[in-house]
Amino acid sequence: MIFSPFWKKAAVGLLLCAPLAVPAQTHFNGAKALEYARQVAAIGPRWPTGPGHVKAEAFLRAHFRHDQLEEDTFTANTPIGLVPMHNFIARFPGKKNGVIVLATHYETNYWLRNINFVGANDGAATTGLLLAIADQLREEVVRHKMLEGYSVWLVFDDGEESILPTWTDSDSLYGTRHLAAKWARDGTLGRIKAFMLADMIGDKDLDIQRESQSTDWLVDLVSRAAKRFGYDRYFFQTEEAVEDDHLPFVRRGVPSIDVIDLDYGPNNSYHHTVQDTMDKISARSLTIDGDVFMETIRLIDQR
Ligand SMILES: [Zn+2]
Repeated sequence: MIFSPFWKKAAVGLLLCAPLAVPAQTHFNGAKALEYARQVAAIGPRWPTGPGHVKAEAFLRAHFRHDQLEEDTFTANTPIGLVPMHNFIARFPGKKNGVIVLATHYETNYWLRNINFVGANDGAATTGLLLAIADQLREEVVRHKMLEGYSVWLVFDDGEESILPTWTDSDSLYGTRHLAAKWARDGTLGRIKAFMLADMIGDKDLDIQRESQSTDWLVDLVSRAAKRFGYDRYFFQTEEAVEDDHLPFVRRGVPSIDVIDLDYGPNNSYHHTVQDTMDKISARSLTIDGDVFMETIRLIDQR
């Protein structure tokens, strides 16, 4: 993602009902999310058409082999020609009629293919986050047959990054533009209560900006969720517009938020460089993210 050209400045834990026990407060397993992120980053660069991308696809397929996994394969028309791309959608059914989507991209930039860019924070961290969230959702589905609230769909999208170094509207967001159009055609969009994007929030030095094109009520719910855990200081201290995977959904009227920390290293100097490595991200940040995403799901369910 990039800053938008019209850039402007501007608690409780999960309640686990154990038998004969009072509800215990627990935190999200950020260590597990970090371990998954490590596995994704260890694949190496994952640019479209590259060997690492094929491995990342296999990794996701294997991880969700016992779940409802859809592989949404399509051909993107890019500046280097037609490129096969793969979105993955893991579905966890809920009792309420409607869907909450959590999304991340998993690929790395084609234009960075000649350096060892592994995207530890940019792609791997949030893929790890969603994989650990999947584990938690899977447990709940096993225990209760369905989630108590809305269905939750985890989207691992392809082609978020531009193919060429210069980001444009037509050379970026391939996977989510494709998915939003497809879901508009088949009526799925109308079932989506919220689209929540996670991007670059593994950063040890976590400061999540308020992305100004995101939906106000959803930003407010994320704020409330953060407050419940005493995480206020990590959220929304500054505001800016960011071009990212939420936009194809924002533009189609789906309530959406980009939960992003686009302040990575001194003067954002780790962003899209070989400096984006595992030592820059932490289990603690992923715990904060996971706590807030899971609590926000709960708040959306109650809304
Ligand atoms: Zn990026």
